[in-house]
Amino acid sequence: NGLPSTLPDIDPSRLTIIRAAVLKFLPEANTLVFGEVPTDHMLYMDFSPDHGWSPPQIRPYGPLNLDPASSCFHYCPNVFEGLKAYLGPDGTPRLFRPQLNMERMVRSAERVALPPFNADALLILIKRLVALEARWIPRARGCSLYIRPTLIGTRPSLGVSASRHAALYVILSPTGPYIRDKDGKGISLLAMSDQVRAWPGGTGGFKLGLNYAPGFAAQRTAAALGYQQLLWLLGETVAEAGAMNVFAVFERTDGALDVVTPPLDGTILPGVTRASVLSLLSHTPLTAALPQLPTDVRLHTAERTLTMSELFAAAGAGTLREVFCVGTAAVVIPATRIGWQRRGGGSADAEVQDIVLPVVGGEGSLAHALWERLVDIQEG
Ligand code: PMP
Repeated sequence: NGLPSTLPDIDPSRLTIIRAAVLKFLPEANTLVFGEVPTDHMLYMDFSPDHGWSPPQIRPYGPLNLDPASSCFHYCPNVFEGLKAYLGPDGTPRLFRPQLNMERMVRSAERVALPPFNADALLILIKRLVALEARWIPRARGCSLYIRPTLIGTRPSLGVSASRHAALYVILSPTGPYIRDKDGKGISLLAMSDQVRAWPGGTGGFKLGLNYAPGFAAQRTAAALGYQQLLWLLGETVAEAGAMNVFAVFERTDGALDVVTPPLDGTILPGVTRASVLSLLSHTPLTAALPQLPTDVRLHTAERTLTMSELFAAAGAGTLREVFCVGTAAVVIPATRIGWQRRGGGSADAEVQDIVLPVVGGEGSLAHALWERLVDIQEG
């Protein structure tokens, strides 16, 4: 970033806390809509090339005051993260592998040339904020407090170059399960060939705001065609689904299962949930990691290219068992069907071919076993 390395870094010992004069009423757990209700407080600090990182502040949730020329409004050097705090049966708030989110945030900041920061110091401050807001963590299973660390470029100039000023803040919002239906329900996915999310050398592997807005119109088209999420492709190659990584499960003739997920080639986000699913699947004995699976299950896990033709061929041959999506929001959610709009994407009348998945969550499925195990770990 061309900034002197002697500037003050984030210093948790300089934290000041300004408490909200009036606290909000807590929403009912069964009415929670993702990201709609902020908690009482937020964490805030900013960076200038003269003073480095300001002393961090926890203060009442509220608007930011920004110069209209700030880079974040024009050239989008905007980074965010998404993780959750869970309350276990013992009533203790827990974060799930938060250091992985912090490391990813540092990499994202580097990608858009924002000022560097100490990830461990930020995590200490996030824990302080979560502890202060612990009453907001819903108790019901699968419910949690969503944590949104955000880093934006605030350089007050229209010059097209790296922002040497930044604001870093963290807001929180209680959240329910991604889909309220019982096990066995999943989401439909639409794959489009003529709009892409990411490409080699691009930014798909980083959590940047600029990766998301270009998908909103396509998401609308998918909804108009009756699909809940987009399955992003690059050519024919499967990338990821909405804001989730994707796994496909194929059955071999001897009954063993091949579990395949696309490799981290820079076009997909390196998901914390994806990494956690891969660790669980590689554990021996497998049924110790995933006690919900039948004891005789045999798995072969691979990070390799997955194509739409392969999915359609396997579906035709009856060897495609499950497709599921993984991410912080849903944890694990099975796909019910996958549509493929080979061309003419963006218009709602283009022809779509469908794969209907034979296994959609439920007892014995990998999606179900993984959801149960991950939520057990997350809730302590
Ligand atoms: N892909 C994209 C594009 C995402 O936004 C997310 C959510 N962060 C994921 C995958 C899943 O990542 P994680 O498991 O870390 O939530």
